[in-house]
Amino acid sequence: MRFAEQWNWCTVDATRDVTLGIREFRLRPDGGAAPYPPGSHLNVAVLIDGQPARRSYSLVGDRDPHTYRIAVRLAPDSRGGSRAMWNLKPGARIEISSPSSLLEIDWNRQNYCLIAGGIGITPITAIASALHRRNIDLHLHYAVKSRGDAAYLSELSSALGDRLIVHASDEGARLDLDLTFRALPSDAVAIMCGPMRMLETARRAWNDAGRAPADLRYETFGSSGLLPTAEFRVRLKDSGAELVVSPNSSMLDVLNDAGFEVMSDCQRGECGVCAVDVIAVDGAIDHRDVFFSEQQKKDNRKICPCVSRAVGIVTIDTLYRPEAA
Ligand SMILES: Cc1cc2nc3c(=O)[nH]c(=O)nc-3n(C[C@H](O)[C@H](O)[C@H](O)COP(=O)(O)OP(=O)(O)OC[C@H]3O[C@@H](n4cnc5c(N)ncnc54)[C@H](O)[C@@H]3O)c2cc1C
Repeated sequence: MRFAEQWNWCTVDATRDVTLGIREFRLRPDGGAAPYPPGSHLNVAVLIDGQPARRSYSLVGDRDPHTYRIAVRLAPDSRGGSRAMWNLKPGARIEISSPSSLLEIDWNRQNYCLIAGGIGITPITAIASALHRRNIDLHLHYAVKSRGDAAYLSELSSALGDRLIVHASDEGARLDLDLTFRALPSDAVAIMCGPMRMLETARRAWNDAGRAPADLRYETFGSSGLLPTAEFRVRLKDSGAELVVSPNSSMLDVLNDAGFEVMSDCQRGECGVCAVDVIAVDGAIDHRDVFFSEQQKKDNRKICPCVSRAVGIVTIDTLYRPEAA
């Protein structure tokens, strides 16, 4: 289940490489660009091996009434969505959804700590710019492997000056979130976008610093997990059905395609709407969500089938009862 989205055609106006592995696309939607809050993303219809799929991309920088700007990292070990994007040339026609935001910004708060890991910088560029324009105090911590991998570095540096702190691991300047959070004023809000491991570190550090959980806001772009992405099996308690989840599909899609209806919303492992009960595990679960706590993941009593996977066989109860449907 997804909320209704509006789709529209657009033309790829221009592309440029902002780093060796990140390509920017300017998209010109038919009928102009819709207004959207900073931190928004849009969905793009892509063809992967001839099959329709969708991928989400955050809108970069300030709003423009005519075009949307997105930046796509070429994912090396992937199903092919980012490669399909990289194959687009200026003049290509693609379908996109209207923008929507998952990152809530409270304009009444006066101190923001922004944290970006790698490609997670994309929504943060727009948020930093909007906060800066409103004279809201902010620092942006940008964690990258090296400065050469940091998209939009010069843009951000000229806008933010010393409020931009780059943490390049090849310079030994790793981001210490414990230190960072402890040094923040008590009313600060943190907004982060980065890989799941970084988010888990941030959540722990935020809690350890005694801060209100709601003041840490985040978005992840999906996770590659801790175990390899391989085929696994799902057994359904009661029905005895056994389904195969291939490396290219999610457990949620396989369950729904087989008629075991599971409600879902974000499909990024953030909202927990799709969580189902785990009855037994023969192998291991690779929890790729950011919804459950570390302890809940260790307990293995529930799984978010939209993103999480397994190695071996996992027996679940979706609580779907056909007679009640
Ligand atoms: C709100 C939002 C905003 C985003 N913004 C951006 C952005 O600004 N820029 C950007 O580059 N990306 C962004 N993304 C990520 C983007 O939507 C795509 O996921 C990304 O381009 C990779 O797509 P892919 O098909 O190439 O890779 P995928 O196949 O989706 O692979 C991505 C990772 O998942 C692992 N994986 C492989 N197979 C599976 C599988 N079956 N199930 C689960 N995981 C698997 C891979 O190991 C890989 O590391 C955003 C995502 C979201 C949700």
